[in-house]
Amino acid sequence: MADKQFAFFEGKFVDINDAKISIKTHVIQYGTGVFEGIRGYWNEKEGEMYLFRLREHFERMIDSMKIMRIEPLHTVDEMCDMAVELVKMNGDKTDVYVRPLAYKNSTAIGPGLHNNPSEFCMYTVPFGAYFKSGDEGLRVMVSSWRRIEDNAIPARAKVTGAYANTAQSKTDAVLYGFDDAIVLSEDGHISEGSAMNIFLVKNGELMTTLPSDNILVGITLGSVMEFAKEELGIVATKRKIDRTELYSADEIFFCGTGAEVTPVVEVDKRPIGTGKMGPTCKAIKDLYYKITHGEVEKYHKWLTPVYAKKGSKIGAR
Ligand code: PMP
Repeated sequence: MADKQFAFFEGKFVDINDAKISIKTHVIQYGTGVFEGIRGYWNEKEGEMYLFRLREHFERMIDSMKIMRIEPLHTVDEMCDMAVELVKMNGDKTDVYVRPLAYKNSTAIGPGLHNNPSEFCMYTVPFGAYFKSGDEGLRVMVSSWRRIEDNAIPARAKVTGAYANTAQSKTDAVLYGFDDAIVLSEDGHISEGSAMNIFLVKNGELMTTLPSDNILVGITLGSVMEFAKEELGIVATKRKIDRTELYSADEIFFCGTGAEVTPVVEVDKRPIGTGKMGPTCKAIKDLYYKITHGEVEKYHKWLTPVYAKKGSKIGAR
């Protein structure tokens, strides 16, 4: 990590200490921003940083912008280049998290998204494991907070203000002594974790919830589904999942950029399966690690190297 840290702010790279917005700004007052969280994995042996599915994150961000009437100031390609440049400038040589944010920048009173200019910024932070429990697995609760509905604040857009909902379920869970929460939709079906998607395994079936159950359609989720099918021959089904299916599941695990692939070993004080990480989760978790760190050639297509030396095999984005 370089001594001086930079951010992309109002059209240029600036000292992170100068990347500041007014307290009047719309995004602070009304939560009218959309963001992404992108992981960079440091491969010590190769002296390389791999940004995972960079392009897909910015594509999803553009979709979020469309929903929130935030005009994109940059193309996907430009944002990808900026992210690479920023990580390079910040000299990160540990796992990092890249956080781009597009937001409404008006300082006028009133919630309207119209006549309200957009801005874009991005910063990076060193970022290790989101869950410290590792292979031990998580003890979670079903939250009494419901997931926001598509016609309230659409979960499929990664809207800053929507994380007030996430914050409630996560905070209650931690204050009640759990690691995280599973959140239900208004109709009582499982939606997702507080800030991650969920998979269950029962009698050999790998299943996950539907986009119409108010999930953020995770890039990790899509990646897991693709490589589970291709490499492990496991085809995941997407369907409505009842709360009580949690308690009788053989395995449960979370996945997300922050959460990566993390086993859930207890729900509402009931052990799941053997009460330890199950074999499907283990196989997927191990493969996810290898893929994100550049150890599986077939999936180099998902990686963007930051310090790319000339002739590097991995480079397409
Ligand atoms: N759901 C929510 C609410 C999230 O915040 C995240 C993290 N971005 C996810 C799911 C997982 O999405 P992804 O795999 O794209 O990080």
